[in-house]
Amino acid sequence: MSIMKTQEHEEIRRTTKKLIETEINPYVDQWEKDEIFPAHEVFKKLGKAGLLGIHKPVEYGGMGLDYSYEMAFVEELGHVHCGGVPMAIGVQTDMATPALARYGSDELRREFLAPSIAGDMVACLGVSEVGAGSDVASIKTTAKKNGSDYIINGGKMWTTNGTQADWICLLANTGDGPVHANKSLIVVPMKSKGVSVARKLKKLGMWSSDTAQLFFEDVRVPQRNRIGAEGMGFVYQMQQFQEERMWAIATGLRGMERTIRDTVEYTTQRVAFGKPLIHNQVIHFRMAELLTEVELVRSLLYRAIEAYVAGEDVTMLASMGKLKVARLSREVVDSCLQYWGGMGYMWETPISRRFRDSRLGSIGGGADEIMLSIISKYMGTLPGERRK
Ligand SMILES: Cc1cc2nc3c(=O)[nH]c(=O)nc-3n(C[C@H](O)[C@H](O)[C@H](O)COP(=O)(O)OP(=O)(O)OC[C@H]3O[C@@H](n4cnc5c(N)ncnc54)[C@H](O)[C@@H]3O)c2cc1C
Repeated sequence: MSIMKTQEHEEIRRTTKKLIETEINPYVDQWEKDEIFPAHEVFKKLGKAGLLGIHKPVEYGGMGLDYSYEMAFVEELGHVHCGGVPMAIGVQTDMATPALARYGSDELRREFLAPSIAGDMVACLGVSEVGAGSDVASIKTTAKKNGSDYIINGGKMWTTNGTQADWICLLANTGDGPVHANKSLIVVPMKSKGVSVARKLKKLGMWSSDTAQLFFEDVRVPQRNRIGAEGMGFVYQMQQFQEERMWAIATGLRGMERTIRDTVEYTTQRVAFGKPLIHNQVIHFRMAELLTEVELVRSLLYRAIEAYVAGEDVTMLASMGKLKVARLSREVVDSCLQYWGGMGYMWETPISRRFRDSRLGSIGGGADEIMLSIISKYMGTLPGERRK
């Protein structure tokens, strides 16, 4: 039996789907219009159902289950009728909290992880900056020691949940050494003096999700807010990225299936030249091929999950899957939109939202080219030296 198909996995899938149908999907159109969704309200409902801490330690309110159960939840998030809400949930569960759960002190986990699992706090992740996205090592934000505190100065860009978060998992330079060993992850409460939301960014897609540019000016936080060891932030963030990338694979599958299914339905009803569009071999063959590719990506994901649960390094598999799901999502929506004709180009047709939302996959959380660089590195074909 697949590790993703036990009775407990099915239970998590059912709970997630039901919550999406009653508490999320009926409101998505409004949230898309508002260009924000009420994260505290929605996260509280998810937290009450236990869904924000499936893979998190029981001591902090989590379920303590292995990563396959988290992935069952994330796969079902693909039922949400937009990309923005699943992305915001993903930041909370698989992007901003994995390092805290793994390396944070007991005190820090009680203060920030437990309420994030309960849905009482909203988290965000501050890695990217105006001048450093793909090139994480070159971030400029600093956290300098002052007595028992850090004083933080700098800025973060494209921060998902950034206008409504209670705390940020911030990557900052805490030393002057080599760029891969001079950084730390620090939990910064967003209401700290000197933290400001410079602006809420307008985007091509993912409208329900708020994205912020943030500034940090002489922000004082205690050094005990550092996650784990000083200088290990880059390494922790690279580990945290593995869960972010598996999250990206899992969350993309259902949306692609729905797009294909909706397109089959539409082209079955739409008649041109005296027959349903779907009766053209070019169309039904295309649908068959795309669905086959979705299943291939799912197989790759399940293999990565199995390896991750067994404690193996999944950097290469997660990067391959992230690359493929992003490219395939773009291919699926573009191919399918074509067969909706003029209707596909209309604002009110769901596929046009999916077309806009899916474009982010090849850019966010490590662009396609970064995935290719990582795969090349594992293949031993990436030229270049490590920077000092
Ligand atoms: C909607 C949205 C939400 C986001 N949420 C967050 C968040 O919550 N937290 C956070 O920290 N960040 C977030 N990001 C930032 C995101 O992770 C970065 O945009 C992404 O990593 C790319 O960085 P960049 O935009 O600086 O692109 P750049 O690094 O400037 O790269 C531009 C392009 O150049 C190409 N490229 C880059 N490097 C190479 C290379 N070595 N070889 C070949 N080609 C290359 C790629 O195609 C890339 O897309 C978000 C971004 C968006 C748009």
